[in-house]
Amino acid sequence: MDPDVLATLPDQVFHEGFAEVIKHAAIRDAGMLEKIEAMDPDDRKVDPDLIADNLAIKARIVEEDERETSGTRALLNFGHTIGHAIEATAEYGTLLHGEAISLGVRAALYLSEKKADLSQEETARLLAIHRQWHLPLLLDLDISTEVVMDALARDKKFTSGRIRFVLLKRLGEAFVSDEITREDIIEAIEHVRTPI
Ligand SMILES: [Zn+2]
Repeated sequence: MDPDVLATLPDQVFHEGFAEVIKHAAIRDAGMLEKIEAMDPDDRKVDPDLIADNLAIKARIVEEDERETSGTRALLNFGHTIGHAIEATAEYGTLLHGEAISLGVRAALYLSEKKADLSQEETARLLAIHRQWHLPLLLDLDISTEVVMDALARDKKFTSGRIRFVLLKRLGEAFVSDEITREDIIEAIEHVRTPI
């Protein structure tokens, strides 16, 4: 890993990459969020320890569930179920991966408040970090929820109207819920269309 490479990236690419950095902290290490909050996104100096610690979160989760049997690995999908569907639906080049994931995280936070008692304060804090990193939080593209749902259903299976979906109990503590329905997902996508 060469942190100097970061200095060569266009702003938008540097910022979208942080969507995954923020995601790793959000699912496993709330303390790391403080370090991300303390950073200046317009400064390309990234602490190599942050990079190492952040990657270690992903490595540990993959190690814990090498064969994808326990479901732990699914935690890495936080923000990705809806995010991927939006990314797949948006016209090519409209949204970078991390930007689509930022929208997916907002949807997942909405469902975490609704189904897992995540506090409004914690949601607001994680959204603020995305805003700090210039990541979009408003779905204002001309794409219908129905088409996003079609893309989502191609990606993930609904079993008796329910889908496995990663929620946060609190910042740093993610889990896989089997309680999320098609209607919940539609509601969450509609939520991301409302300005904040
Ligand atoms: Zn991703």
